Amino acid sequence: MARIAIAGAGLAGRLVAFALSRAGHAVQVFEAGPGPAPSFDGQGAAAFTAAGMLSPLAEMEKAEPEVAELGYASLRLWPQIVASLRLPVQLQCQGSLLLAHRQDLGSAQRILARLPGAPAPLAAGALRELEPALLPSGLLAWLLPGEGLINPVQAMAALHAGAEGAQWHWQQPVASVEAGGLLLANGTRVAADWAIDTRGLGARSAELPLRGVRGEVLQLRLTSHGLRRPVRLLHPRHRVYLVPRSESELMLGASEIESEDRSEVSLQSAVELMAAAHSVMPALSEARITRLDRNLRPALPDNKALAHCAPGLIRLNGLYRHGWLLAPALVQQVLNQAGLATLEQELHP
Ligand SMILES: Cc1cc2nc3c(=O)[nH]c(=O)nc-3n(C[C@H](O)[C@H](O)[C@H](O)COP(=O)(O)OP(=O)(O)OC[C@H]3O[C@@H](n4cnc5c(N)ncnc54)[C@H](O)[C@@H]3O)c2cc1C
Repeated sequence: MARIAIAGAGLAGRLVAFALSRAGHAVQVFEAGPGPAPSFDGQGAAAFTAAGMLSPLAEMEKAEPEVAELGYASLRLWPQIVASLRLPVQLQCQGSLLLAHRQDLGSAQRILARLPGAPAPLAAGALRELEPALLPSGLLAWLLPGEGLINPVQAMAALHAGAEGAQWHWQQPVASVEAGGLLLANGTRVAADWAIDTRGLGARSAELPLRGVRGEVLQLRLTSHGLRRPVRLLHPRHRVYLVPRSESELMLGASEIESEDRSEVSLQSAVELMAAAHSVMPALSEARITRLDRNLRPALPDNKALAHCAPGLIRLNGLYRHGWLLAPALVQQVLNQAGLATLEQELHP
């Protein structure tokens, strides 16, 4: 049994705490925020704000093929992780849809050309059958099988509850993380066999030049909205997606702005997101806006994820816009390398 000290209780920190406590290690987690629940005020874990799209193919619009490979590995792990949690977590892998208005076909085709396997457009009848809530006339659609969604707020609560035996220390900002332990901002040293840095943007240093990429989302309520799977609109100016949360709730996201402004959602972002979403799903005109939220995605200069393992020290960061998609595969990779746990074995002990 190893002594583990984790800095940051966001997505990566909770997943690592879950895996290592299940493997029987003595886990302590130190988090700057006040508690395990989200505050939806632009502070704290980006993980709570995320829409929870699990889109290895659609993400290739902007990312490298490695993201798709890791994404598919995570898509195999998520059902096992969710099945071993005590609290319920919405997880769905019945494909996602890419959409484009006919007049935007040119720019959509440039994006589709980046995707392996060149998906074929759906006939209008097939689209109506798959997603009757969408407006089919003038709308082109491509089905990406196997893609899915997870409910981040539920998953964060369930990972926290599922890390049985872990000790959680809230309002304990960590100043630095090195092999052998952590230095808390209050000057206390915490000794550990393994120190694990999962502070997201809070880990920024000269060696780790992270930046925050602002993202804004809206939560909508609409009785029986009828949307069955995540949809992403390929639009020349806006990247917009809708993610069904429950029969009456949807997430609409997300802006992507090179800014570290954590203030409230801007009118321009809200209007652009809502107008684009309404153009594919007219019933949204009756939707109620139940939450506007924003946060900063932790990104490195090359927008690639960092999964670093050296003796006594692990750093997981730079998950950018793909954290929910990549985290299980990256956690599995670094814990294997460290010889601390095999995520798959912990799920089937
Ligand atoms: C609007 C938006 C939409 C998104 N949509 C998706 C999506 O659909 N699919 C997807 O895969 N990803 C999505 N993401 C990205 C995903 O949320 C992030 O990649 C992921 O949350 C990063 O996880 P993390 O654990 O590295 O950081 P975080 O989740 O940000 O967690 C970092 C934690 O460290 C804590 N911390 C910071 N500094 C310190 C310190 N000094 N000491 C102790 N604790 C500290 C923070 O309070 C926080 O709890 C989205 C993000 C945003 C903002």
